[in-house]
Amino acid sequence: MPLSRRRFVGGFAAALTYLGVAPEGDLLAFGQSAASAPGGAPYLSDKIKKAMAEYDGYAKLSNNENPYGPPESVMKAMTDAFKYANRYGAPDGGIVDAIAAHHGVKTENVLIGEGSSELLDISDAAFTRGGRKVVGADPTYATIFQYAAGTNSEGILIPLRADYTQDIPAMIRAVKTNYRDIGLVYLCNPNNPTGRIVPKDEIKLLLESIPGDIPVFIDEAYHHYVDDPNYEPSTKYVIEGRKVIVARTFSKIAALAGMRLGYAVAPKELIDQLKPFVMTYNTNHLAKHGAVVALKDTANEVKVKLLNKQVRDGVTAEIRAMGYEVIPSQANFFMVNIKKDVTPVADEFLKRGVVVGRKFPPMNEFMRVSVGTQPEMDVFMKAFKEVFPVARQSKVG
Ligand code: PLP
Repeated sequence: MPLSRRRFVGGFAAALTYLGVAPEGDLLAFGQSAASAPGGAPYLSDKIKKAMAEYDGYAKLSNNENPYGPPESVMKAMTDAFKYANRYGAPDGGIVDAIAAHHGVKTENVLIGEGSSELLDISDAAFTRGGRKVVGADPTYATIFQYAAGTNSEGILIPLRADYTQDIPAMIRAVKTNYRDIGLVYLCNPNNPTGRIVPKDEIKLLLESIPGDIPVFIDEAYHHYVDDPNYEPSTKYVIEGRKVIVARTFSKIAALAGMRLGYAVAPKELIDQLKPFVMTYNTNHLAKHGAVVALKDTANEVKVKLLNKQVRDGVTAEIRAMGYEVIPSQANFFMVNIKKDVTPVADEFLKRGVVVGRKFPPMNEFMRVSVGTQPEMDVFMKAFKEVFPVARQSKVG
């Protein structure tokens, strides 16, 4: 560890305070770029620069990012697009055409957003007005429920099954029972925070069982990491004309989380309902140019997927061998049952240079860990063995 952990925690906390950001949850993701801004950016105080530089030395395993960063091809495309920084309208690299071609749909079926977060936000705005409810798993990626609060809507939360999969039959029952009140169904596949997939048969069952006029938002943020043959992307339902919105993001395998670009693929009728809620000039030129190249750079995708699997499977095998339950994951993160509350344990990891995921109620004793590089995971495993020493391991095992 290149820098003092104590200094980091202090500096990091100070930086968060300075920025008006509470040090909790997914907000623990600091970008690296500002600290290395050309020539030492004058808009950052020395204190902040120091805190950010220290942060760069830490294993950031809290936000399911791609730890390898964008490939050269994408970096070059973004660098070339810098010259459009002063423009609102500029050549966008043909991003919408590229996405449409990628999925075999028309451009009218594609809507880009400031990350897939914007798609979640506007889906709530479009479909949960008047207090119409969102049905989804508990836990899942909760942003859809948070945005729903803004439309005075609320979630109908369906607990996971004993194997931590999403309970599709229970979701179907909830939709049917509350039919007139339901505005949207949300399905995260694979699910964040568990990493478990919804198999293709169950997606089919869901879509065939619920009333056809209820839109289903299928969040495929982690699609690229899956290799379970029972998984299938849901874009085929869009082509069939079902009321399905499939969301994808360039934040994960494409490593562009800080650039903010995501998209929805959906029937035109749904895209038209979403469009009025999109923010004007919502996406930036660099992201669009980079994303077009990222879509084509399948070699990089394959590489990152493989690396992720190798590192994830190695670390989870080691943790299991220590006697801890790890939920089988198809994504770039996993959950380990630490049999005690996550929050104080996360603090222990932070002291050891590792930022792990926040608590995901009601799974209060399951720690979510993003898969970093092998060196980052070595730091994580060292910390894990310190926080959960051998005496406890043999007791648990
Ligand atoms: N959906 C899921 C399941 C996520 O885990 C995340 C981020 O972690 C998002 C959407 C939001 O991603 P972004 O707005 O960066 O596209």
